[in-house]
Amino acid sequence: MNLLPQGGSADYVVTGAWSQKAVKEAKRVGTVKIAASTEAESFKRIPKQGELTLDPNAAYVHITTNNTIFGTEWHYVPDTGSVPLVADTSSDMFSRPIDVAKHGLIYAGAQKNLGPSGVTLVIVRDDLVKRTPPSLPTMLQYSVHAENKSLYNTPPVFGVYTMRLVMKWLLKEGGLAAIDKKNARKADKLYAEIDRTGFYRGHAQTDSRSRMNVTFRLPSEDLEKRFAKEATSAGLDGLKGHRSVGGLRASIYNAFPEAGVDALVQFMKEFERKNG
Ligand SMILES: *Cc1c(COP(=O)(O)O)cnc(C)c1O
Repeated sequence: MNLLPQGGSADYVVTGAWSQKAVKEAKRVGTVKIAASTEAESFKRIPKQGELTLDPNAAYVHITTNNTIFGTEWHYVPDTGSVPLVADTSSDMFSRPIDVAKHGLIYAGAQKNLGPSGVTLVIVRDDLVKRTPPSLPTMLQYSVHAENKSLYNTPPVFGVYTMRLVMKWLLKEGGLAAIDKKNARKADKLYAEIDRTGFYRGHAQTDSRSRMNVTFRLPSEDLEKRFAKEATSAGLDGLKGHRSVGGLRASIYNAFPEAGVDALVQFMKEFERKNG
């Protein structure tokens, strides 16, 4: 609503459920062109730069940097030329360093890595703030929030305060460089176990694997059900995959401890030994 001028068009890269929803909403405002989609491949990968059909006259290019349901993540920032890149980074924000300068707008709901739900972090380039059409309702204008230092209304202070505590924790842990290493270590351990024998099968293509949501299948749906049930009994909760993919999903956001990953890997080994 803020970036798409009347009669304008925007490019969307469709890599999962959140980008599909973004497309649906953008269509209410203007023309949407699909720059690439991996839907035909069950969203198991992120398209390569060469696969993106980009319109040089687009108002912006929209991507979703991490796809929670399918367990894929962008491992490069696409080159969009002079067209601003807009990224929904809700589920991997602050899990690794991010090159802000390569983006026109970054937005992230707080509820994955940043803090409680109810807060959205937005980083927007000065020249793009000026695009806001004055016809938009005041509360929806980015320019109003920017001019008022996010205090045009009373913001959700509890959520913002909690985010401050999380940011202080993150800095104490060593900041983005340190959490990046820790997240890589956590994900690598899980993917190594998935790849160890072939009993487990990763949903995402190797080069597109998410470090936040690790999705995998077992040889049968029956075993998947048993795995989820026994894991829950062992204190490893929430492993059932999203219904649109099936299988299992381990969400290992910043707050998830490495010891939890180690426990899951042990459980996976044991489960395979008994059922493989
Ligand atoms: C989680 C998520 C959202 C929205 O989350 P809600 O919990 O439904 O508010 C949007 N985009 C991405 C990329 C997400 O991971």
